Amino acid sequence: MLLLKNAEVYGPERLGKRDVLLGGGQVLAMEEELTLTLPGVETYDAKGRALVPGFLDQHVHSIGGGGEGGPHTRTPELLLSDVIKAGVTTLVGLLGTDGITRTMEALIAKTKALNNEGVTAFCLTSAYQYPPVTLTGSVMRDIMYIQEVIGCKLAIADHRGSHPNREELIRLVSDVRMAGLLAGKPGVLHIHTGAAPEGIEPIMEIVRTTDIPPCHFRPTHLGRHLDQAIAFTHMGGYADITTKDDTPSQVHQLLEEAVADHITMSSDSNGSMPKWDSKRERIVGMGVGRMTNLYRAVRRMVTEEGIPLETALPFITSNVARALELYPRKGAVQVGSDADLVLLDQDLSICGVFAKGRPMMWEKELLAKGTFEE
Ligand SMILES: [Zn+2]
Repeated sequence: MLLLKNAEVYGPERLGKRDVLLGGGQVLAMEEELTLTLPGVETYDAKGRALVPGFLDQHVHSIGGGGEGGPHTRTPELLLSDVIKAGVTTLVGLLGTDGITRTMEALIAKTKALNNEGVTAFCLTSAYQYPPVTLTGSVMRDIMYIQEVIGCKLAIADHRGSHPNREELIRLVSDVRMAGLLAGKPGVLHIHTGAAPEGIEPIMEIVRTTDIPPCHFRPTHLGRHLDQAIAFTHMGGYADITTKDDTPSQVHQLLEEAVADHITMSSDSNGSMPKWDSKRERIVGMGVGRMTNLYRAVRRMVTEEGIPLETALPFITSNVARALELYPRKGAVQVGSDADLVLLDQDLSICGVFAKGRPMMWEKELLAKGTFEE
Protein backbone atom coordinates (compact mmCIF):
# COMPACT_ATOMS: atom_id res chain seq x y z
CA MET A 1 0.00 0.00 0.00
CA LEU A 2 1.01 3.52 -0.69
CA LEU A 3 -0.12 6.79 0.89
CA LEU A 4 0.07 10.10 -0.96
CA LYS A 5 -0.08 12.97 1.55
CA ASN A 6 -1.34 16.53 1.06
CA ALA A 7 -2.07 16.43 -2.67
CA GLU A 8 -4.31 19.00 -4.38
CA VAL A 9 -6.71 16.52 -5.98
CA TYR A 10 -8.52 17.02 -9.27
CA GLY A 11 -10.91 14.18 -9.88
CA PRO A 12 -10.78 15.84 -12.57
CA GLU A 13 -13.11 18.33 -10.82
CA ARG A 14 -11.32 20.36 -8.16
CA LEU A 15 -11.58 18.52 -4.82
CA GLY A 16 -9.01 20.34 -2.65
CA LYS A 17 -6.31 18.94 -0.39
CA ARG A 18 -6.55 15.21 0.21
CA ASP A 19 -4.56 12.22 1.46
CA VAL A 20 -4.97 9.33 -0.97
CA LEU A 21 -4.40 5.68 -0.11
CA LEU A 22 -3.55 3.26 -2.93
CA GLY A 23 -3.59 -0.52 -2.67
CA GLY A 24 -4.35 -3.51 -4.85
CA GLY A 25 -4.08 -1.27 -7.92
CA GLN A 26 -6.96 0.94 -6.76
CA VAL A 27 -7.72 4.10 -4.81
CA LEU A 28 -8.77 2.65 -1.46
CA ALA A 29 -9.46 5.83 0.50
CA MET A 30 -9.36 9.58 0.04
CA GLU A 31 -9.81 11.92 3.00
CA GLU A 32 -8.68 15.37 4.11
CA GLU A 33 -6.49 13.63 6.69
CA LEU A 34 -5.56 9.96 6.72
CA THR A 35 -3.39 8.60 9.51
CA LEU A 36 -2.32 4.98 9.21
CA THR A 37 -0.21 2.89 11.50
CA LEU A 38 -0.26 -0.22 9.33
CA PRO A 39 3.09 -1.88 8.59
CA GLY A 40 4.39 -1.71 5.02
CA VAL A 41 2.61 1.49 3.96
CA GLU A 42 4.96 3.66 1.93
CA THR A 43 4.30 7.38 2.31
CA TYR A 44 4.90 9.92 -0.45
CA ASP A 45 4.70 13.63 0.29
CA ALA A 46 2.73 15.36 -2.48
CA LYS A 47 2.47 18.78 -0.84
CA GLY A 48 2.11 21.57 -3.36
CA ARG A 49 1.45 19.10 -6.17
CA ALA A 50 -1.73 18.57 -8.16
CA LEU A 51 -2.90 14.95 -8.27
CA VAL A 52 -4.94 14.28 -11.43
CA PRO A 53 -6.27 11.18 -13.21
CA GLY A 54 -3.77 9.34 -15.43
CA PHE A 55 -4.32 10.40 -19.03
CA LEU A 56 -6.09 8.31 -21.67
CA ASP A 57 -4.81 8.38 -25.25
CA GLN A 58 -7.14 6.66 -27.70
CA HIS A 59 -5.12 7.14 -30.90
CA VAL A 60 -1.70 5.57 -30.60
CA HIS A 61 0.35 3.91 -33.35
CA SER A 62 1.91 1.63 -30.77
CA ILE A 63 3.76 -0.54 -33.31
CA GLY A 64 4.63 2.49 -35.47
CA GLY A 65 2.92 3.71 -38.61
CA GLY A 66 3.72 5.74 -41.68
CA GLY A 67 5.64 4.43 -44.65
CA GLU A 68 4.09 6.84 -47.16
CA GLY A 69 7.58 7.85 -48.34
CA GLY A 70 8.89 4.30 -48.73
CA PRO A 71 9.97 1.64 -46.24
CA HIS A 72 12.59 3.90 -44.59
CA THR A 73 9.74 6.24 -43.51
CA ARG A 74 8.00 3.58 -41.41
CA THR A 75 7.88 5.19 -37.97
CA PRO A 76 9.31 3.57 -34.82
CA GLU A 77 7.44 1.55 -32.20
CA LEU A 78 6.21 3.10 -28.95
CA LEU A 79 8.26 2.44 -25.80
CA LEU A 80 6.94 2.19 -22.25
CA SER A 81 9.05 5.20 -21.23
CA ASP A 82 7.31 7.33 -23.90
CA VAL A 83 3.99 6.43 -22.29
CA ILE A 84 5.12 7.21 -18.75
CA LYS A 85 6.79 10.51 -19.69
CA ALA A 86 3.51 11.56 -21.31
CA GLY A 87 1.52 10.79 -18.15
CA VAL A 88 -0.58 8.29 -20.09
CA THR A 89 -1.82 5.26 -18.16
CA THR A 90 -4.48 3.97 -20.61
CA LEU A 91 -4.08 3.84 -24.37
CA VAL A 92 -5.72 2.45 -27.47
CA GLY A 93 -3.31 1.16 -30.14
CA LEU A 94 -4.21 1.17 -33.82
CA LEU A 95 -2.91 0.73 -37.35
CA GLY A 96 -2.70 3.60 -39.83
CA THR A 97 -2.04 4.06 -43.53
CA ASP A 98 -0.04 0.86 -43.74
CA GLY A 99 -2.26 -2.14 -43.15
CA ILE A 100 0.11 -4.40 -45.11
CA THR A 101 3.48 -4.50 -43.33
CA ARG A 102 1.81 -3.54 -40.01
CA THR A 103 -0.41 -6.39 -38.95
CA MET A 104 -3.13 -7.12 -36.42
CA GLU A 105 -0.95 -9.95 -35.10
CA ALA A 106 1.82 -7.51 -34.19
CA LEU A 107 -0.59 -4.89 -32.82
CA ILE A 108 -2.32 -7.37 -30.52
CA ALA A 109 1.03 -8.69 -29.27
CA LYS A 110 2.22 -5.13 -28.56
CA THR A 111 -1.03 -4.39 -26.72
CA LYS A 112 -0.48 -7.46 -24.53
CA ALA A 113 3.14 -6.36 -23.96
CA LEU A 114 2.13 -2.88 -22.76
CA ASN A 115 -0.37 -4.44 -20.34
CA ASN A 116 2.37 -6.75 -19.06
CA GLU A 117 4.68 -3.75 -18.61
CA GLY A 118 2.18 -2.09 -16.29
CA VAL A 119 -0.10 0.32 -18.17
CA THR A 120 -3.60 -0.41 -19.52
CA ALA A 121 -3.79 -0.97 -23.26
CA PHE A 122 -6.54 -1.80 -25.75
CA CYS A 123 -6.51 -1.81 -29.54
CA LEU A 124 -8.67 -1.50 -32.62
CA THR A 125 -8.96 -3.91 -35.50
CA SER A 126 -8.23 -2.94 -39.14
CA ALA A 127 -6.46 0.09 -40.60
CA TYR A 128 -7.22 2.91 -43.08
CA GLN A 129 -8.51 0.63 -45.79
CA TYR A 130 -11.83 -0.93 -46.73
CA PRO A 131 -12.49 -3.89 -46.84
CA PRO A 132 -11.04 -4.19 -43.33
CA VAL A 133 -7.88 -6.11 -42.41
CA THR A 134 -8.51 -8.29 -39.36
CA LEU A 135 -7.01 -11.15 -37.37
CA THR A 136 -9.89 -13.64 -37.57
CA GLY A 137 -11.23 -12.65 -41.00
CA SER A 138 -14.11 -10.58 -39.62
CA VAL A 139 -14.42 -7.33 -37.68
CA MET A 140 -17.22 -8.81 -35.60
CA ARG A 141 -15.21 -11.88 -34.62
CA ASP A 142 -12.16 -9.76 -33.73
CA ILE A 143 -14.26 -7.60 -31.38
CA MET A 144 -16.11 -10.61 -29.98
CA TYR A 145 -13.18 -12.95 -29.35
CA ILE A 146 -10.06 -10.82 -28.84
CA GLN A 147 -10.09 -9.31 -25.38
CA GLU A 148 -7.92 -6.30 -26.27
CA VAL A 149 -9.98 -5.27 -29.34
CA ILE A 150 -12.68 -2.69 -28.48
CA GLY A 151 -13.53 -1.37 -31.94
CA CYS A 152 -12.43 -0.82 -35.51
CA LYS A 153 -10.40 1.74 -37.45
CA LEU A 154 -11.21 3.31 -40.85
CA ALA A 155 -10.15 6.35 -42.89
CA ILE A 156 -12.47 8.71 -44.76
CA ALA A 157 -11.97 11.99 -46.61
CA ASP A 158 -8.32 11.13 -47.21
CA HIS A 159 -6.38 10.54 -50.42
CA ARG A 160 -4.62 7.60 -48.71
CA GLY A 161 -7.86 5.85 -47.71
CA SER A 162 -10.20 3.57 -49.69
CA HIS A 163 -13.05 6.09 -49.99
CA PRO A 164 -15.76 3.74 -48.67
CA ASN A 165 -19.24 4.54 -49.96
CA ARG A 166 -22.39 5.12 -47.88
CA GLU A 167 -23.51 1.47 -47.88
CA GLU A 168 -20.03 0.27 -46.87
CA LEU A 169 -19.90 2.78 -43.99
CA ILE A 170 -23.36 1.72 -42.79
CA ARG A 171 -22.50 -1.99 -42.98
CA LEU A 172 -19.21 -1.53 -41.13
CA VAL A 173 -20.56 0.65 -38.31
CA SER A 174 -23.50 -1.74 -37.88
CA ASP A 175 -21.14 -4.71 -37.56
CA VAL A 176 -19.00 -2.81 -35.04
CA ARG A 177 -22.06 -1.81 -33.01
CA MET A 178 -23.52 -5.32 -33.02
CA ALA A 179 -20.22 -6.97 -32.05
CA GLY A 180 -19.83 -4.41 -29.27
CA LEU A 181 -23.28 -5.30 -27.92
CA LEU A 182 -22.52 -9.03 -28.05
CA ALA A 183 -19.08 -8.64 -26.46
CA GLY A 184 -20.08 -6.07 -23.82
CA LYS A 185 -17.65 -3.54 -25.31
CA PRO A 186 -18.19 0.06 -26.49
CA GLY A 187 -18.04 -0.96 -30.19
CA VAL A 188 -16.45 2.14 -31.67
CA LEU A 189 -15.65 2.83 -35.30
CA HIS A 190 -12.67 5.17 -34.90
CA ILE A 191 -12.50 7.21 -38.09
CA HIS A 192 -9.36 8.93 -39.32
CA THR A 193 -10.81 11.99 -41.04
CA GLY A 194 -8.55 13.43 -43.72
CA ALA A 195 -8.35 16.99 -44.97
CA ALA A 196 -10.78 16.59 -47.92
CA PRO A 197 -13.44 19.32 -47.70
CA GLU A 198 -16.34 16.89 -47.14
CA GLY A 199 -14.82 15.91 -43.77
CA ILE A 200 -17.38 13.95 -41.70
CA GLU A 201 -20.41 15.02 -43.76
CA PRO A 202 -21.01 11.39 -44.92
CA ILE A 203 -21.22 10.32 -41.25
CA MET A 204 -23.55 13.14 -40.28
CA GLU A 205 -25.77 12.26 -43.24
CA ILE A 206 -26.00 8.64 -42.03
CA VAL A 207 -26.84 9.79 -38.48
CA ARG A 208 -29.57 12.09 -39.85
CA THR A 209 -31.19 9.47 -42.08
CA THR A 210 -30.81 6.11 -40.26
CA ASP A 211 -31.41 4.84 -36.72
CA ILE A 212 -27.71 4.13 -36.07
CA PRO A 213 -26.73 5.81 -32.77
CA PRO A 214 -24.11 8.53 -33.37
CA CYS A 215 -21.94 7.30 -30.48
CA HIS A 216 -20.58 4.42 -32.59
CA PHE A 217 -18.89 6.83 -35.01
CA ARG A 218 -15.72 8.24 -33.48
CA PRO A 219 -14.23 10.68 -35.97
CA THR A 220 -10.76 11.98 -35.13
CA HIS A 221 -8.32 14.65 -36.41
CA LEU A 222 -11.30 17.05 -36.27
CA GLY A 223 -9.13 20.05 -35.40
CA ARG A 224 -9.12 20.59 -39.16
CA HIS A 225 -12.93 20.38 -39.37
CA LEU A 226 -13.77 22.27 -36.19
CA ASP A 227 -17.26 23.42 -37.22
CA GLN A 228 -18.22 19.84 -38.06
CA ALA A 229 -16.78 18.66 -34.74
CA ILE A 230 -18.98 21.15 -32.90
CA ALA A 231 -22.06 20.19 -34.94
CA PHE A 232 -21.45 16.47 -34.38
CA THR A 233 -21.39 16.88 -30.58
CA HIS A 234 -24.82 18.51 -30.82
CA MET A 235 -26.04 15.43 -32.71
CA GLY A 236 -24.96 13.30 -29.71
CA GLY A 237 -21.63 12.17 -31.14
CA TYR A 238 -18.12 12.30 -29.72
CA ALA A 239 -15.57 14.39 -31.61
CA ASP A 240 -11.85 13.69 -31.18
CA ILE A 241 -9.18 16.34 -31.70
CA THR A 242 -5.51 15.50 -32.34
CA THR A 243 -3.40 17.66 -30.04
CA LYS A 244 -1.30 20.00 -32.14
CA ASP A 245 0.36 23.38 -31.67
CA ASP A 246 -2.88 25.23 -32.43
CA THR A 247 -5.13 23.09 -30.18
CA PRO A 248 -4.87 25.38 -27.12
CA SER A 249 -6.11 28.35 -29.16
CA GLN A 250 -9.03 26.32 -30.58
CA VAL A 251 -10.27 25.35 -27.16
CA HIS A 252 -12.17 28.59 -26.51
CA GLN A 253 -14.44 27.94 -29.50
CA LEU A 254 -14.95 24.32 -28.43
CA LEU A 255 -15.89 25.33 -24.88
CA GLU A 256 -18.30 28.00 -26.12
CA GLU A 257 -19.97 26.17 -29.00
CA ALA A 258 -19.59 22.38 -28.59
CA VAL A 259 -21.07 19.97 -26.08
CA ALA A 260 -17.79 20.12 -24.16
CA ASP A 261 -18.01 16.70 -22.47
CA HIS A 262 -18.29 15.08 -25.91
CA ILE A 263 -14.91 16.49 -26.95
CA THR A 264 -11.96 14.12 -26.52
CA MET A 265 -8.29 14.59 -27.41
CA SER A 266 -5.60 12.14 -28.53
CA SER A 267 -1.96 12.37 -29.59
CA ASP A 268 -1.58 10.36 -32.83
CA SER A 269 1.61 9.19 -31.18
CA ASN A 270 4.16 7.38 -33.37
CA GLY A 271 2.07 8.04 -36.47
CA SER A 272 3.79 9.67 -39.41
CA MET A 273 3.18 13.34 -40.05
CA PRO A 274 3.99 13.61 -43.76
CA LYS A 275 4.04 17.06 -45.32
CA TRP A 276 2.70 16.98 -48.88
CA ASP A 277 3.13 19.43 -51.74
CA SER A 278 0.06 21.47 -52.67
CA LYS A 279 -1.20 18.81 -55.09
CA ARG A 280 -0.64 15.95 -52.58
CA GLU A 281 1.56 14.25 -55.19
CA ARG A 282 4.90 14.28 -53.37
CA ILE A 283 6.05 14.20 -49.77
CA VAL A 284 8.23 17.19 -48.97
CA GLY A 285 8.88 16.43 -45.31
CA MET A 286 8.33 13.76 -42.67
CA GLY A 287 7.66 13.97 -38.95
CA VAL A 288 6.44 11.63 -36.23
CA GLY A 289 3.69 12.15 -33.65
CA ARG A 290 4.72 12.34 -29.99
CA MET A 291 2.60 11.21 -27.06
CA THR A 292 3.93 14.08 -24.94
CA ASN A 293 1.91 16.43 -27.20
CA LEU A 294 -1.25 15.21 -25.45
CA TYR A 295 -0.68 16.78 -22.04
CA ARG A 296 1.46 19.57 -23.52
CA ALA A 297 -1.69 20.93 -25.20
CA VAL A 298 -3.65 20.79 -21.94
CA ARG A 299 -0.83 22.49 -20.03
CA ARG A 300 -0.75 25.29 -22.62
CA MET A 301 -4.53 25.70 -22.35
CA VAL A 302 -3.97 26.53 -18.68
CA THR A 303 -0.70 28.47 -18.82
CA GLU A 304 -1.27 30.39 -22.07
CA GLU A 305 -5.02 30.52 -22.60
CA GLY A 306 -6.16 30.97 -19.00
CA ILE A 307 -8.41 27.89 -18.98
CA PRO A 308 -8.84 26.37 -15.49
CA LEU A 309 -7.03 23.03 -15.08
CA GLU A 310 -10.30 21.30 -14.12
CA THR A 311 -11.87 22.52 -17.38
CA ALA A 312 -8.98 21.36 -19.57
CA LEU A 313 -8.29 17.97 -17.94
CA PRO A 314 -11.53 16.19 -18.98
CA PHE A 315 -10.46 16.30 -22.67
CA ILE A 316 -7.75 13.72 -21.86
CA THR A 317 -9.28 12.05 -18.79
CA SER A 318 -12.98 11.70 -17.91
CA ASN A 319 -14.42 12.49 -21.36
CA VAL A 320 -12.24 9.82 -23.00
CA ALA A 321 -12.99 7.31 -20.23
CA ARG A 322 -16.74 7.86 -20.63
CA ALA A 323 -16.46 7.54 -24.40
CA LEU A 324 -14.66 4.20 -23.99
CA GLU A 325 -17.08 3.05 -21.24
CA LEU A 326 -14.22 2.90 -18.72
CA TYR A 327 -15.41 5.66 -16.37
CA PRO A 328 -15.02 5.87 -13.38
CA ARG A 329 -12.54 2.99 -13.27
CA LYS A 330 -10.36 5.15 -15.53
CA GLY A 331 -10.28 8.93 -16.01
CA ALA A 332 -11.22 9.70 -12.40
CA VAL A 333 -9.67 10.01 -8.95
CA GLN A 334 -12.22 8.57 -6.56
CA VAL A 335 -12.46 5.67 -4.15
CA GLY A 336 -12.68 2.48 -6.23
CA SER A 337 -10.98 3.95 -9.32
CA ASP A 338 -7.86 2.30 -10.66
CA ALA A 339 -4.81 3.95 -9.09
CA ASP A 340 -3.79 5.55 -12.40
CA LEU A 341 -2.53 8.95 -11.31
CA VAL A 342 -0.37 11.82 -12.44
CA LEU A 343 1.29 14.38 -10.17
CA LEU A 344 1.90 17.87 -11.49
CA ASP A 345 4.51 20.30 -10.21
CA GLN A 346 3.75 23.92 -9.43
CA ASP A 347 4.60 24.85 -13.03
CA LEU A 348 2.21 22.05 -14.11
CA SER A 349 4.95 19.80 -15.49
CA ILE A 350 4.57 16.06 -14.90
CA CYS A 351 6.64 14.99 -11.89
CA GLY A 352 4.99 11.70 -10.86
CA VAL A 353 3.08 8.86 -12.49
CA PHE A 354 1.34 5.84 -10.94
CA ALA A 355 -0.17 3.11 -13.10
CA LYS A 356 -2.45 0.54 -11.44
CA GLY A 357 -0.91 1.63 -8.15
CA ARG A 358 2.70 1.12 -9.18
CA PRO A 359 5.05 4.12 -9.09
CA MET A 360 6.32 4.62 -12.67
CA MET A 361 7.81 8.11 -12.17
CA TRP A 362 8.64 10.09 -9.03
CA GLU A 363 10.33 13.51 -8.80
CA LYS A 364 10.62 13.37 -12.61
CA GLU A 365 12.73 10.23 -12.43
CA LEU A 366 11.55 7.23 -14.46
CA LEU A 367 11.12 4.22 -12.19
CA ALA A 368 9.88 1.82 -14.87
CA LYS A 369 11.13 1.14 -18.39
CA GLY A 370 10.20 -1.22 -21.18
CA THR A 371 11.73 -4.69 -21.22
CA PHE A 372 14.54 -3.79 -23.66
CA GLU A 373 15.05 -0.15 -22.73
CA GLU A 374 18.45 0.89 -21.35
ZN1 LIG B 1 -3.06 8.22 -36.74
